[in-house]
Amino acid sequence: MEFRDLKLQYKNLKTEMDQAIEEVLEKGAFIGGTAVAELEKQLADYVGVKHCITCANGTDALSMVMMAWNIQAGDAVFVPDFTFFASGEVVSFEGAVPVFYDVCRDTFNADVKSLEEAIEKVIEEGELTPKAIIAVDLFGQPADYLSLEKVAQKYGLLLLEDGAQGFGGMLGQRRACSFGDAATTSFFPAKPLGCYGDGGAIFTNDDKMADYLRSVKVHGKGEDKYDNVRIGWNSRLDTIQAAILSVKLKAFIEYELENVNKAAEKYTALLSGLVETPVVLEGYYSSWAQYTIKTESREQRDSLQNWLKDRDIPTMVYYSKEMHKQLAFKDVKSYVECPVTSQLCDTVLALPMHPYMTDQEIQKVTEGLRDFFNK
Ligand SMILES: *Cc1c(COP(=O)(O)O)cnc(C)c1O
Repeated sequence: MEFRDLKLQYKNLKTEMDQAIEEVLEKGAFIGGTAVAELEKQLADYVGVKHCITCANGTDALSMVMMAWNIQAGDAVFVPDFTFFASGEVVSFEGAVPVFYDVCRDTFNADVKSLEEAIEKVIEEGELTPKAIIAVDLFGQPADYLSLEKVAQKYGLLLLEDGAQGFGGMLGQRRACSFGDAATTSFFPAKPLGCYGDGGAIFTNDDKMADYLRSVKVHGKGEDKYDNVRIGWNSRLDTIQAAILSVKLKAFIEYELENVNKAAEKYTALLSGLVETPVVLEGYYSSWAQYTIKTESREQRDSLQNWLKDRDIPTMVYYSKEMHKQLAFKDVKSYVECPVTSQLCDTVLALPMHPYMTDQEIQKVTEGLRDFFNK
């Protein structure tokens, strides 16, 4: 069994995919071009924002938003303690300070009370200038943007949605990657919408920011890339990846997103009462980047993982270490306690999950869990 079956996805899309890739090879143009421009238009329309700017990966996308907002030394950017390293890395990379806040146990997403406490503490101390909030749509469910937008407004902060795992999710009628002042996503192969390599995108309704991003991603170009109006870098989505993504986006919209939600429903029906299953709040829709259960302790989680491994059932631990405990952040001060994150790091376990899971596979995973808990 595969944790996320990209080979099976390719088998399903093979005819269209091979044709799309071949078209790029035959045209012989591998950077930019209409395939990238068309994809950006499709992505912006799907998400429901004015601008989509593709780039080389999700980390560059986050970094370029930090650059657009002029985040620098002396600034504080608030980041969840429970997320992938990149969400905080980009803040330190700009010389600013990531201030970690705790998450909610049920959704794995921003705990707005903890965030506000962190903001207040930074203001009270008076050493750093609070500038922005990064919120993450962890495992596919959008964070609580209605509350987050209010907090951002209250303290005059910019809000960035890290939608690397959230693409396709919804809060009410609004799609993931449409929240805050800007949003980013990643097309890393295992993400809800993935390419066959690295890729990423930024979404915003801000015209000026979009202009800046289109310039900075190509050596700070002005009229063209040999007219350079600012210091930038090189972060583009390859034409081949754009062609791959347009085939995948079609499948994602037509059936993959729906199928992954059906798989989640089946898991939850078979597992409820046995183990703590993931919660999707009323009014929210998840793109199920991960299906993450919670055990009672680290010992139980680790022995369950081994038990399933012996039955050829792959699982993953996202994440086993709090951001504030990463060696790379050893000099970063903690402003608030993050007990929920610590508990989650000990107890979370992600089960095999993708749009092509069969009922037999779901059965096999849930039986493995049943045997473990009833042994
Ligand atoms: C994957 C991921 C990223 C980084 O994306 P890359 O394309 O791998 O650079 C950033 N944030 C979160 C939450 C992620 O899951």
